[in-house]
Amino acid sequence: MPLKYLIDRDGTEHSVEDALAGSMREQFPTSFVELASRHREWEGVASVTQCLNGTRMEYLKILCDYAESVDGSAFRVLGTRGHGKLEQYEDRINNALAETYMSYGDLKGTCDLIEEQPDGSLWMVDYKTSGSFRVKKALGIYTEDEPVLTADGEQQYYKSGKKKGKLVTRKAIRRSPARRDLGEWQWQLNRYRLLAREAFGFDIDRMFIFVIVRDGGTASARQNGVTENTYMIEVPELDEQQVLSYFIEKSEALSGAVASYENAVYSGMTHEEALVAAMPEPCTPTEAWDGRRCERYCPVAQWCIGNGDNPYVSNGGNDAY
Ligand code: SF4
Repeated sequence: MPLKYLIDRDGTEHSVEDALAGSMREQFPTSFVELASRHREWEGVASVTQCLNGTRMEYLKILCDYAESVDGSAFRVLGTRGHGKLEQYEDRINNALAETYMSYGDLKGTCDLIEEQPDGSLWMVDYKTSGSFRVKKALGIYTEDEPVLTADGEQQYYKSGKKKGKLVTRKAIRRSPARRDLGEWQWQLNRYRLLAREAFGFDIDRMFIFVIVRDGGTASARQNGVTENTYMIEVPELDEQQVLSYFIEKSEALSGAVASYENAVYSGMTHEEALVAAMPEPCTPTEAWDGRRCERYCPVAQWCIGNGDNPYVSNGGNDAY
């Protein structure tokens, strides 16, 4: 069923067919709408990116007609354009594989770039566009209070006001590899690394995220200590068994839930009854961004909240429906 409607700037839903025929042309070029409407159909095997999201959200996206904002898809479209350029790069450089589709067992994924280096080692690179706050975390940037010194190198103290007697400090930007938090990026790259071995027999020597900072060059990026527009961030290797177990659990949960839904329909339930009968647990706090995703960013929130057990909204959603 999946992506069925696109939402314009006024909040009006257009069927994907109408939007592709130009019904939004006053607000968006139709070629942009076409990129915004692209999504992958469910073919019975989970992808690495689906496994990184909440199982409930992915389950509902597979089985319900949902809508997405075209404006809200802007950064995804930007990423898609970058991937197109990468494929052209592969045509000119013969020691690189761009947009490499990999599939093994019950998992599939597409890695942006596998490139052979002059010394024969293989590097895997995934392209991202991301806000400076997330880049800050990935780089291990943090702020720390440091004393403001006088010209003589003496510490200063407030002489009046609420802070009287307290040390005068300022926020200093620091960076520490020990504080790097790559979040789901490191799980994604590590699973791609193992998929490359399973699917092609390649051993990847190093993994990187190449990130374009969405708000690069702005005051907010500088406040986050992010001073460049792009960063190449090395991704550490994670324990192989831990990575495999995580993805096996997530892919089985998604495939199993969809299979349960299909069995329920086969045994005579309506779509709505089967959807509820096979509904996976709500997304974890990390997957649901502590509820922010449910409130504004989840395209299938209406079915999840309608189930009445969403822990991130009041009374599980029973008040709303
Ligand atoms: S509403 Fe929240 S918990 Fe429900 S599917 Fe969406 S992100 Fe997950």
